[in-house]
Amino acid sequence: MRVLITNDDGIASAGLHALVAAFESVGETFVVAPERERSATGHAITLHKPLRAHVVTVPGSSAHAWATNGTPADCVALGMLELLPARPDVVLSGINVGPNLARDLTYSGTVSGAMEGAIFGVPSIAISVGSFRNPTFTIAAAFAVELVRAILLHGLPEDTLLNVNVPNLLPERIAGVAITRQSAKRFISRLEKRVDPRGRTYYWLTGDPSPVEDLEGTDTWALSRGYISVTPITLDMTDDRAATAMRSWNLTWRPARDE
Ligand code: MN
Repeated sequence: MRVLITNDDGIASAGLHALVAAFESVGETFVVAPERERSATGHAITLHKPLRAHVVTVPGSSAHAWATNGTPADCVALGMLELLPARPDVVLSGINVGPNLARDLTYSGTVSGAMEGAIFGVPSIAISVGSFRNPTFTIAAAFAVELVRAILLHGLPEDTLLNVNVPNLLPERIAGVAITRQSAKRFISRLEKRVDPRGRTYYWLTGDPSPVEDLEGTDTWALSRGYISVTPITLDMTDDRAATAMRSWNLTWRPARDE
């Protein structure tokens, strides 16, 4: 098995190192990760300045590894198009410090790393642990190995990738695995307005989860109840319901004519 691993917390992240360690005994492991943290960069790619990749060593590992000045999506593209000797069987992004849930998927560099893998047609997984404080990666790394084995056995539909969130709990406290859907909760909802030492105003985006109740079966619901949440998401953003309804609008367009 050939594995391409990226993340958005950067090459020095302990979450990345734990994932690499878990896959080294499973297959040939390649790491292409940002040289610094690129969390919340979404699916940004670098088009207007040079992309650089330099060989690095992942501590305690003999994986082939590169650090780049790019985003997670850049890293996967670099791996696929240049750095790897052959196509990987799976692309993994993580293990992220902090959850990737609900509306935050749109902002997530972790999810976008996996999404880029799916765009290349490779089964891809984004993996996060549910806590920013004292995160432990053992369960997430072991579950990622199990999940990859299952994907290679069963396959994933075209255009589908998996977004996995693992509770930051002791193994015996994990409630199980839940196949979930993306919740509609949003997180960034406040702007802090401050004044810098030179008297100029600046802003800081922040916020708390919206106080709506977690609907059963959603990613936020599952994680808050101690389940490992696995959400299949798809690259196709088309809203078929809306498209069907809109066809009855009979939209037409005619070139404007001078009267
Ligand atoms: Mn991150």
